[in-house]
Amino acid sequence: MPQPILIAGAGIGGLASALALAKHGRSCRIFERRATVAEDGAGIQISPNGVKVLRALGVADDIAARVGTPDAILVHDAKTGTRLQSLPLGHWINQRHGAPYWVAHRADLHAVLYDRARRSPEISIETGVTLLSALTTDEQVSVISSNGLAYTGAALIAADGVRSTLRARHFDASPVRATGLSAARAVIPMRDFPLAWAQRNTGVWMMPSAHIVHYPVRGGTDIAMVVIFPDPTGGDSWSEPFSADQMDALPLPVCRELRDCLRASTQWRRWSLVTRNPLDTWVHGRTALLGDAAHAMLPFLAQGAVMALEDAWTLAACIGASKAHIPEGLVSYQSQRLARSARVVKTAARNGQIYHLSGLAATARNASLRWLSGARVMAAYDWLYGHEIAHP
Ligand SMILES: Cc1cc2nc3c(=O)[nH]c(=O)nc-3n(C[C@H](O)[C@H](O)[C@H](O)COP(=O)(O)OP(=O)(O)OC[C@H]3O[C@@H](n4cnc5c(N)ncnc54)[C@H](O)[C@@H]3O)c2cc1C
Repeated sequence: MPQPILIAGAGIGGLASALALAKHGRSCRIFERRATVAEDGAGIQISPNGVKVLRALGVADDIAARVGTPDAILVHDAKTGTRLQSLPLGHWINQRHGAPYWVAHRADLHAVLYDRARRSPEISIETGVTLLSALTTDEQVSVISSNGLAYTGAALIAADGVRSTLRARHFDASPVRATGLSAARAVIPMRDFPLAWAQRNTGVWMMPSAHIVHYPVRGGTDIAMVVIFPDPTGGDSWSEPFSADQMDALPLPVCRELRDCLRASTQWRRWSLVTRNPLDTWVHGRTALLGDAAHAMLPFLAQGAVMALEDAWTLAACIGASKAHIPEGLVSYQSQRLARSARVVKTAARNGQIYHLSGLAATARNASLRWLSGARVMAAYDWLYGHEIAHP
């Protein structure tokens, strides 16, 4: 029997990697730092390139009843409430790329991946174990954990998130960088949300240095809302309670109807948005980075988890094809993923700049958004959403 693949982290990237590797007959041991496997956060957008991976993993049907499939992204000026653009999703994007654009509660996506992994005979999940460092030999990798134990396997996949310990240990010791922005997130019962059109559409509201996004989740019974705002106190906070008074006190120039949406929740949580230096190497011996550990990105293109899904599928295909030569498989994985993920990281950052424009630049942006056709704007993302995954 070949040695198992060791995986650090039971987030979306780690779980998807294990499921994809199991499809190639590889056994996996996932180690999760937390005592329980769970997902914080609120909503998640899963574009067609991500849905294709979920289908290939065999879990798309398990989550389909819990997702929303918005008709369009309706883009607004937050201050005036003016609708600037309608970007087609729904039937249009499904036809164009052969898969829908889903929006979901992130706990639902995570639970589906976790349940499938738990039921898979090839996968074991050990909680309360933090992996710290790895040593590669010709035959295997030995990994040291915080409980003082060593584990051996054929490879180590570091899917341990933006604050990755393994990345710091073996690739780049520089710490995460604050962006000066935070995200406040909430999930709001649809009946309490003042905008009827929000049940069938994603809403984006742009304003200087900030923006707001909402979309329907849990089969349309709830709305997930995220507010991105300047936050010099950001620091390193992660899923911190954020009160309705704190939300009300944010100096956001929003129209009355958007203010009413913000007041529909009293249960916000705040994440400071951090990033890391881009890397041009994700592989060291038998260790490979994956997901946010490899390519942390700002959430302004809604692609971080989707890229982790794509990574997972490609990684497993490369390991599957490499047979006994796993380090070569890891190098092949890196070469297939580096340029695409770097492009996504840059596009996400650029999106944020456009959302957050002020003054004359914002006026020009709004005018061109009104003038362009929504289908044409979306077609500019064909390279992203139309990505095809390889089938073994
Ligand atoms: C506000 C916001 C909105 C977003 N919206 C979207 C969206 O709409 N669509 C989208 O695709 N993406 C979105 N993202 C990005 C997405 O959340 C991340 O890219 C994705 O969760 C990364 O998954 P991951 O598995 O790489 O890392 P994580 O989800 O961070 O998982 C890492 C796991 O590893 C564990 N761990 C950490 N260190 C160790 C260790 N040393 N040993 C063992 N275990 C360890 C952690 O406890 C965790 O469970 C958003 C992000 C933010 C902040």
